[in-house]
Amino acid sequence: MKKSHALYIGGEWRDSLSKETLETRNPANQELLAEVPRGKAEDMEVAVTTARKTFESLEWQEFPVEVRGRILYDIAAKLRRDAEEIAQMETLDTGKPISQGRNDVEASARYFEYYAGMADKIFGETIPVRHDILDYTVREPVGVTAHIIPWNYPLQITSRSTAAAIATGNTVVVKPAEDTPLTALKLAELFAETELPKGVFNVVTGYGYEAGAALINHPEVNHITFTGSVQTGMAVMEAAAKNIVPVTLELGGKSPNIVFEDCDMDNTADWVVKSVVQNAGQTCSAGSRLLVQKTVKEEFLQKVKERMLAVTLGKGVDDPDLGPVLSEKQYERIEKFMQTAREEGAQFVCGGERVSVEGCKDGYYFAPTIIDNVRVDSEVAQEEIFGPVLSVFTFEDEEEAVKLGNNTQYGLVTGVWTENIGRAHRLAKRIRAGQVFINNYGAGGGVQMPFGGYKKSGFGREKGLEALRNYTVLKNVAVKM
Ligand code: NAD
Repeated sequence: MKKSHALYIGGEWRDSLSKETLETRNPANQELLAEVPRGKAEDMEVAVTTARKTFESLEWQEFPVEVRGRILYDIAAKLRRDAEEIAQMETLDTGKPISQGRNDVEASARYFEYYAGMADKIFGETIPVRHDILDYTVREPVGVTAHIIPWNYPLQITSRSTAAAIATGNTVVVKPAEDTPLTALKLAELFAETELPKGVFNVVTGYGYEAGAALINHPEVNHITFTGSVQTGMAVMEAAAKNIVPVTLELGGKSPNIVFEDCDMDNTADWVVKSVVQNAGQTCSAGSRLLVQKTVKEEFLQKVKERMLAVTLGKGVDDPDLGPVLSEKQYERIEKFMQTAREEGAQFVCGGERVSVEGCKDGYYFAPTIIDNVRVDSEVAQEEIFGPVLSVFTFEDEEEAVKLGNNTQYGLVTGVWTENIGRAHRLAKRIRAGQVFINNYGAGGGVQMPFGGYKKSGFGREKGLEALRNYTVLKNVAVKM
């Protein structure tokens, strides 16, 4: 078995104990890309035990913090060294356009260098208590950290949480999504080239209900980071509750772009389309709802429609605007929402169905879709569709915009488009979402910006310095002098 297609535990490449494998395919045409081990509970047992032993080892406890940082810088450099190979791998595994694959590799390198710089800057405080007491705090690593990774941004999401966890002195067990395991294993190859003690970074591939479930339920895990569906997020919380373990949950959204009549319409329309087409709409922060002021609805919708119709489709490696959705399962999920929209009398402005792309007859390509007259309480308006599908709503004034913006169970991201600075800040204050973008969407995806949800979008923050809190625990020490 090729190194990068084996489990990586304790610095060694291994088959699963059962020797069973699972397949990963190219979503563009269903071509078989690789077989990776089907890790199960017994493999996870070895991985978590190894991560625990490593965490407690003197070698890791006494490992110089600046060397920890240097290794993470080194990983960033290696990601850039192999950038094209890794971007191609990510594109083949996920179906995403290659330019987005390249962005993912660069963003991953940025996570490693950002947190590398923090490895020797984790410190506590001294607290005045009494004249004869010296009281201070230390931020210690939590221990063994579990990272359950989704399939939409496999490398980026693996990098953002593992870089923060290792910078703060933890050990790591990664369970990549079964559909997209390749880049996490490539990352393990890069770690294998460094001086990082064996057993700090471990990867076990496998299904969620086997390897994933074994990881989140393992009593030796001290923190769980999960990105994915609300349903699996609930299972993660239940497992964590049994072991009294903290979790960081990033569970997607139904994020709106709120467009006022005084915005720069052409620029706004460009971004509205990008925000829902990127990664075929399979992005937790996708701008899947358009809320537009009534006075400019027709004019603005026309601009959005023109841009949606101009979106190019193709194989990720050919760098179209829009690649295939991940799998038949994801396609069927989107189709179910389309069916509901039709039954409820919503109006399709464009798209709404699978389309064929030359040379990719087995790929699941979904046409860029705009749906108007969607019922506010419809599941189309409320649930994450995870496809290139935009639902349109209108509002009269600021008050109604806020109400509609907040009217889902999610609260991850909101875009506000207006030239009125007072209004922009009023909305930023009243929108219940973890991230609000004014006259932009994503701000280039800076790794420095804390990211996470309100409501069912989850809790805890990833990215930025805020993420370091996930992976450290505060100890107070009081000394009688
Ligand atoms: P999922 O939540 O089931 O999968 C995400 C990860 O969790 C995968 O690694 C999976 O193996 C693992 N997993 C699944 N069941 C598990 C369990 N019982 N214990 C531990 N780990 C488990 O998501 P999905 O089924 O791949 O996708 C369904 C929907 O979820 C999508 O259509 C989308 O709406 C949403 N989703 C959101 C994000 C996001 O970025 N927020 C990412 C992926 C999927």
